[in-house]
Amino acid sequence: MLSKNDYEIINNSIRDIKDFPKEGIVFKDITTLLNDATAYTTLMNHLEEKYKDYNLDYIAGIDARGFIFGASLATKLGLGFVPVRKKGKLPSTTISEKYTLEYGFDEVEIHIDAFKNTTDARVLLIDDLIATGGTANAAVTLIEKSGAKCVESCFIIALDFLDGKSKLEQKCPVYNIIGVD
Ligand code: AMP
Repeated sequence: MLSKNDYEIINNSIRDIKDFPKEGIVFKDITTLLNDATAYTTLMNHLEEKYKDYNLDYIAGIDARGFIFGASLATKLGLGFVPVRKKGKLPSTTISEKYTLEYGFDEVEIHIDAFKNTTDARVLLIDDLIATGGTANAAVTLIEKSGAKCVESCFIIALDFLDGKSKLEQKCPVYNIIGVD
């Protein structure tokens, strides 16, 4: 359980940037969490405590901010890390999944052997924020297509005024620390 004090330390370290990357969007800037040693350590200690008994095999992180939290957690838990990348960045054979954006689509990929061709590897997916859930949904699909199991998806922030979290919950349990109404 996260104490109210620790919640406040994490929540107060995240900065709102209005109208970025375009008008009407409030961008949740986590760089001010990362350069605050107390906030970053509080967050990672909380996630370590929460997930240490999940019997996980891998942490998968979403490009790009999910890499920071995912890789930090992987080393704390003594686990391997798998990057879910934007299309065209991974050098070996990949599987990919498209998802729709407001206009057009985007695509994420993992290496076909990311989980070393094991079956039923227990994977925690992590990213900084869930908005529409399109990216995370595609990432969970990739994890499952590769024969692994997405045990839970974890986000620092969920935008609760969008239905991304409730859609993703149809696929796997979802945990977030901060909810934005
Ligand atoms: P979505 O696929 O709509 O759930 O978008 C999630 C991805 O977009 C995550 O990788 C976030 O880092 C990023 N993102 C979307 N909206 C925001 C926001 N308001 N502030 C910061 N990052 C965002």
